[in-house]
Amino acid sequence: MRLPALPLPLPLPRPQPLPRAARTQQLHRGTQSLSGESAPSARQPQPQPALERVAGHPIGPQVRSRFIREPLPFSAFLTDSFGRQHSYLRISVTEKCNLRCQYCMPEDGVKLTPRSQVLTTEEIVTLAGLFVREGVDKIRLTGGEPLIRPDVVQIVTRLRELEKLKTIAVTTNGINLARLLPGLQEAGLNLLNVSLDTLVPAKFEFIARRRGFHKVMEGINKAIDLGYNPVKVNCVVMRGLNEDELLDFVKLTEKKPLDVRFIEYMPFDGNKWNFKKMVSYQEMLGTIQQRWPELELLPSGTSDTAKAYKVPHFQGQIGFITSMSEHFCGSCNRLRITADGNLKVCLFGNTEVSLRDVLRSGATEEAILEIIGAAVGRKKQQHAGMFNISQMKNRPMILIGG
Ligand code: SAM
Repeated sequence: MRLPALPLPLPLPRPQPLPRAARTQQLHRGTQSLSGESAPSARQPQPQPALERVAGHPIGPQVRSRFIREPLPFSAFLTDSFGRQHSYLRISVTEKCNLRCQYCMPEDGVKLTPRSQVLTTEEIVTLAGLFVREGVDKIRLTGGEPLIRPDVVQIVTRLRELEKLKTIAVTTNGINLARLLPGLQEAGLNLLNVSLDTLVPAKFEFIARRRGFHKVMEGINKAIDLGYNPVKVNCVVMRGLNEDELLDFVKLTEKKPLDVRFIEYMPFDGNKWNFKKMVSYQEMLGTIQQRWPELELLPSGTSDTAKAYKVPHFQGQIGFITSMSEHFCGSCNRLRITADGNLKVCLFGNTEVSLRDVLRSGATEEAILEIIGAAVGRKKQQHAGMFNISQMKNRPMILIGG
């Protein structure tokens, strides 16, 4: 007997941007409730079948049941018009760096913001507290080089006091890591990314325009000894510079609990990016699969930036950050605060709003939240594409904090 043909699965409805007016209303509702008694508050966690409510769009049973199973309490201020909930904040704590990596720092350096204009510890903690109260549960300290800020341990200690903050991470070049890590760990640092682009000391000096390879390796080993597992290693892959070391980096994960993440080279002001220097995810993957055909793709979380893989029986794993060839804007949950206190809602967007200035003007928390909410609301659906980005005015990476 012939069975009737099954209908093809219908595509799920895409979330539509929330109309401006509706979003303002949503923000307004939240704000009103800050002073009102019974109005629902954006500060109060709200069970949020996000896309259904934000998009005002009928959704299929498959999607609805997912929301029913996973009600996410989340602030309207940190939810953008595409329903993305921003629970991850990166704070740059300094613009200064003790390396001069070619892909990050323009050759003739950068003009540093005067110290008085850089966020103080107190300001960092105040802003962090506000974001955490609204739903941020992961904060990464970056820079510049975060581990040259004299009060970095104190900042971690203060962040640790924020009750709802689950993860405090640092991205570092590793030069000061071995010395500072015991104190940072005691203060509550629970995740670590160390940047390392080569395993050849002379090449390190060429790329970073400074010496330091052995210090970085010492830092990585110290992190392993102190129990960080995995220790994430960030490696920006550039043609003609280090793409011949891919296999050596993978080999490093055989005996060590490392997660080596190969990052596609991204364009920023002054870093002389060009398409030919970029080694794509597919190309890197192909090279590695030739040596290890058994390479396994690992499951990933919804907002993971890396596509994770593992050579079976190796202790560690690898990943690819494919911001250029396969962007992951659709699941972006990140916001950034620069060292001079600007909120940047997209790494590749050049619109910024100064939280430092509103904070210093004595604005209320509600007023600051309004400004944050409006900036998040303006976040674009996705970045402009690698060729457009390379033509756009943005900060050099050293002044953003990757
Ligand atoms: N100084 C710290 C460090 O070196 O890790 C933190 C700041 S650094 C800007 C943060 C990360 O951004 C590093 O892992 C670095 O490799 C990455 N990065 C910088 N410029 C990049 C570029 N043009 N393309 C891809 N990644 C980049």
